Formats: sequence, structure tokens, C-alpha cells
Amino acid sequence: MTAFSFYGNSQKVLQQALLEEQISARAKEVMQKPARMLQFSIPLRMDDGSFRVFTGYRCQYNDARGPTKGGIRYHPDVTVDEVQALAFLMTFKCAIAGIPYGGGKGGVIVDPKSLSVTELEKLSRGYVREAYDILGPDKDIPAPDVYTDSQVMAWMADEYNTIARGKRPGFITGKPLAIGGSLGRSDSTAKGAFYIIMDAVQRGMIPKGATVAVQGFGNAGENIATMLYDEGMKIVSLSDSKGGVYNPAGIDPKNAIAKKKEAGKLSITTLGKIITNQELLELPVDILIPAALENQINASNAGKVQAKMIVELANGPIAIDGDAILDKNRIIVIPDILANAGGVIVSYFEWVQNNMGYYWTLEEVYAKLKDIVEREFANLLSVSEEKKVSFRTAAYIIAVRRIAEAIDLT
Ligand code: NAD
Repeated sequence: MTAFSFYGNSQKVLQQALLEEQISARAKEVMQKPARMLQFSIPLRMDDGSFRVFTGYRCQYNDARGPTKGGIRYHPDVTVDEVQALAFLMTFKCAIAGIPYGGGKGGVIVDPKSLSVTELEKLSRGYVREAYDILGPDKDIPAPDVYTDSQVMAWMADEYNTIARGKRPGFITGKPLAIGGSLGRSDSTAKGAFYIIMDAVQRGMIPKGATVAVQGFGNAGENIATMLYDEGMKIVSLSDSKGGVYNPAGIDPKNAIAKKKEAGKLSITTLGKIITNQELLELPVDILIPAALENQINASNAGKVQAKMIVELANGPIAIDGDAILDKNRIIVIPDILANAGGVIVSYFEWVQNNMGYYWTLEEVYAKLKDIVEREFANLLSVSEEKKVSFRTAAYIIAVRRIAEAIDLT
């Protein structure tokens, strides 16, 4: 069996949309290749006096619709394939969200948990120094991703400002509020998905008191579980990297957060029956929310999925061979490029507020986010209906149209 390629899988998804939508030969060629991939070394003097060199990447997949936008991931498993796939997803995500950005992504091969705070700060500042020439509020705007947070953004912002000799808050998003962050950014990814799920309830696609299973209990997973629980849905299963729990009577996510803090894991009998991450994916629930990693549902297990609807909060949790099986079994999939677009939409709001120097209330941020995701969900439903294609293909058709139009105009 050949190893799973996240980037290869993403390209196959695009091919499906290109079969359905006629665009110019030029636009087709351009959108199938990353515009730029920068690899660089970040030399670091460690606390113990030793010296290490870390590898960093920044991919700018396509900038036809505006400056590229996307997070920076710190993880030992970062690869060119992954960074390109994530930059690709950002390009199509920004297009379906209708925000004026292209897509980019960055990463450093590092286990951030093995670094001291001082080393982490030096690494983050080093990243900005090495990639400075291609970054900027009108070129390429980074943000947090796995294992990078608002503190890392603050160090990066400060390094950028130091080199630029001026305050340029729009260089990076996901910043702390005190230095130009936006209200509502921290739970925005889950919030966008929440508004779509509530819209689906309104449309009668799923019941009001639906049962829900969430894989992954980090920023995205914790927030979506809490929001849906507060709205009267029944959270019957949760998991983290160490395993999961299942309780048909329902789990209070706030209790799960507290218990996880105490025990260092979710899989404890006081929350429910201990299950594996694989078992969670196969539970008889109304809504399944993968909120951890890519390639969780594929040809090997898609046939066992019993959920009525899957909401992809993670990037790329369903491989293309799994998609075909889910489609055949009439399981609704809300694709990642729309389901988790809330994060980049509120990042866009942060950049807009930075550029204006005028800041919005939390209510304004949420109302604007709700408008966008509901508008684009309605768009997706009508393209899916009109073309008789899956929600994922419909989402890509909308994005392809918008990107192609921008490419053809210049
Ligand atoms: P996070 O690091 O805060 O949380 C990840 C969670 O997944 C943790 O609970 C971890 O224990 C769990 N996990 C790791 N390996 C697992 C496994 N094998 N099985 C089950 N759980 C596992 O990350 P996050 O910010 O919540 O991001 C989660 C996903 O959502 C990623 O795919 C990310 O790209 C995507 N996403 C996040 C945002 C955002 O703003 N946070 C935006 C868009 C997309």
C-alpha cells in the first residue's frame, strides 16, 4: 500500500470539481500548482549552549484573489507534502468564504514541547527573520496552527515590526487582544461550524436534540462540544490522542474539560465507557465531528460509519476513497473548507480591524461571521442541488469559479 499523500489527496478532490466546471485552460493550469514554496534553516543557540538548526517552510499556493493567508504549524512530522496540502486548502477555503485572500501555510519541523520558552521565542523570531522578504500585510499573512498560539504570534509580530521599523499589526493574525487581536478569534473555528450546524437543524437536515461524537478535544473540539451542548444537543462521545469515552446518557463537555485537566486524558471511566478513536468514528450518532487529524476516515472504515452527518472541523479528516463510500451511503459531509472556515474568516476580520485601526464588539464579529457562513452554506446547497454533486464537490466548484475569475482578469 502506498503511503497517504495529503497533497495528492487534495489534488484529486480538485480534479473532481474541474470535471464538473468549465474554466479557462490557463486558470486550470495555474490552480493545480503551488506558486511558491520556500524552505529555510533557522539556526538556534539552545539554553545549554549547544547549537541546532531547524527546517522551516512557507508555501504560497495561489494569490490570485489577494495576499496569501495561513497558519504556521510547529510539529515534528511537518513535511513539504503537508504544508503544500494545507496551503492548497487555505486557497479554496478563502475563496469559498468569499474573503479577499489567496492561500498559504507554514511549518517548522520541531517538537515544541521539547523547547524551553526562551528557545521557542528565539525559534519564532528566527522564522520571521528567514521568511521576512515574502511575508507582510499585503503579501502573506500568517496565523496560529497546531502548537502555535497567540504568544507565538506576539513574538513574530514584534520581530516583524522590529525589522520593518514600524507597527504593522496586519502582518499576522491570532494576536493577543492587547496588541491588535480580534474579539471572538479564539473560538471562531468552532463558531463557524456551530452556525452551519444550527442552520442545518433549521432546514430539517438533522434533529434539534441531535446526538454528537467529537474526535479530538483541543481548541476546535472543546469549543464545538461546549457550544452544541449549551444548545441542547447530546454529546455522547469525546476523544483525545490517548483514546475516547462513550456515554449514551450524555457527557457535559465542561465536566470533561475539568476531568481531563486532572487526569491528563479523557479516557476515564467516570466520564463513560472507554473506547478507541476508531470506535468513536463508527458510533450510531446523528453528527460526527472529526476535530483532530487528517485521513481518519478512508476506504478501510468509511463503510462502518453510522453517523447521519459529518462536520469536518479538522483539515482533511476524510480521504477521497472514504468520501466515495460515504456518498454512496448517503451520509452528509460538510466539507472542511467551509466547516472550519470560521477561523480564517475572523482572522480576516482581525486584519480588517488592524488596517482600519477601529475595533468591533464581540457581537459584531459573531454577526458578521454568521452572515458569511450561512450565505455560503446556502450557496453550497444550491450548487449541490443544481449539479447533483456532493457537498464537497459543490464547495470546490464555488471556489474554483471564484479563483478562475480572478486568474483570468489579470
Ligand atoms: P489542538 O492541538 O488544539 O487539538 C488537537 C486535539 O486532537 C487534541 O485534543 C489532541 O489530543 C487530539 N488528537 C491528536 N491526535 C489524535 C488522534 N490520533 N486521535 C484523536 N485525537 C487526537 O488543535 P486544534 O486547533 O483544535 O485543531 C484540530 C484540527 O482542526 C486540525 O486539523 C486543524 O488543522 C483544524 N483547524 C483548526 C483551526 C483552529 O483555529 N484551531 C482552524 C481550522 C482548522
